[in-house]
Amino acid sequence: MTRTPNNNAQRFDTLLVANRGEIACRVMRTARAMGLRTVAVYSDADANARHVREADEAVRLGPAAARESYLNVEAVIEAARRTGAGAIHPGYGFLSENGPFVEALDAAGITFVGPPASAIAAMGDKSAAKARMHDAGVPLVPGYHGEGQDDALLRDEAERIGYPVLLKASAGGGGKGMRVVESSEAFQAALDGCRRESQAAFGDQRMLIEKYLTQPRHVEVQVFCDTHGDGVYLFERDCSVQRRHQKVLEEAPAPGMTAELRRQMGEAAVRAAKEIGYVGAGTVEFLLDVDGSFYFMEMNTRLQVEHPVTEMITGQDLVEWQLRVAMGEELPLAQDELTITGHSFEARLYAEDPEQDFLPATGTLSRFAMDLAGAGLDPKRVRLDSGVATGDVVSMHYDPMLAKLIVHADDRPQALATLNRALAALDVQGVVTNRAFLQRLATHPAFRNADLDTRFIERNEATLF
Ligand code: ADP
Repeated sequence: MTRTPNNNAQRFDTLLVANRGEIACRVMRTARAMGLRTVAVYSDADANARHVREADEAVRLGPAAARESYLNVEAVIEAARRTGAGAIHPGYGFLSENGPFVEALDAAGITFVGPPASAIAAMGDKSAAKARMHDAGVPLVPGYHGEGQDDALLRDEAERIGYPVLLKASAGGGGKGMRVVESSEAFQAALDGCRRESQAAFGDQRMLIEKYLTQPRHVEVQVFCDTHGDGVYLFERDCSVQRRHQKVLEEAPAPGMTAELRRQMGEAAVRAAKEIGYVGAGTVEFLLDVDGSFYFMEMNTRLQVEHPVTEMITGQDLVEWQLRVAMGEELPLAQDELTITGHSFEARLYAEDPEQDFLPATGTLSRFAMDLAGAGLDPKRVRLDSGVATGDVVSMHYDPMLAKLIVHADDRPQALATLNRALAALDVQGVVTNRAFLQRLATHPAFRNADLDTRFIERNEATLF
């Protein structure tokens, strides 16, 4: 396969990380190990944050509000210029899937550690992405993603698809502008509501319709492509345990996968990535139905929060892969050199109060530690990726995720036992967290039995709260 090489892939010795919190620390850890100089950026709320303390150099972007700091394209580019950074890693969130940002970096001659702007754009609109994926032979949920948007046309399409259906904003994301419609009587009101919500959130009213699957699992495939036209998949993650479309617990490999299904999903994901000229780390999200059918949902054109579970089962450092690809190198391994070893879980520790409808919590962390040795845990198989330390202040300004606890063991039952021991060994004081909720999830019999689907939390509410 041939492809125009990414012109901006070039060697660099200084990396600016345009993010904060755990992901900024995690990216810098690998950058340092590769001998790169690291530059952090920060807002006024983060002047003393851990990612700033750990960087070789740090540049202030602006006030606490994200749009004046971490989302400020000019300020980020100026920081790179001033520090001689040849490349920018965007982490996740903030500018990680922002096409105009990538174009601005191209114009400035700075390498973006991620895909080309055109690949971000191709996946940015759900309807257009689905049309493209259909052409590439990637299976889609039965539905409608056409341009016609008349009320009558959409209603006819919903009838054809068959209720229940899911209305989704074409421009949507983050679970916004999405509604389940149970019957034709309920259709018009749902359509009006969805359009209003989508207009308010995205300035766009276009809708697509999907068959609403009642018990799907969320299974996503990690893909990687280089600038030489090669692509591989690093297997799958099951992220079915979600609260309001927000992932809480993730694992790899997905329980109950057959080798054949894994290969089919992996190959479909690589096809999806190649179709749009993808470069770097990406995730193709699928819904996996009870009958083993899988359907493309969307592609996230960035490194995901949950990438460590894939690192644990493959023994690879995905940030190292990203940086190598960004330097124009070939993928470190070919498909047949990649294997799965053992099982991994990730639990997301949020500063939020499960007793108060998961209200974000703030305060000063009077203690933030984990005594691995005391709990008899192997430091090679338990990883705490965090962006905070004892004494740090947790503010209202950003995402409430404090840390990710990642464990690895020879099989799923042992990994789950390790997760529970590690959760118990976490010592967090001064800020309310969801730790007890995570422990209830991780000890729940249905979770132990891998009885998973995207409504897991909802279904088990009575025994989880
Ligand atoms: P967003 O981009 O807003 O996050 P997604 O399209 O990724 O929206 O869907 C978010 C979540 O909604 C999925 O993880 C899944 O739990 C659920 N979902 C999406 N599409 C369907 C569907 N057709 N049937 C059932 N559940 C769905």
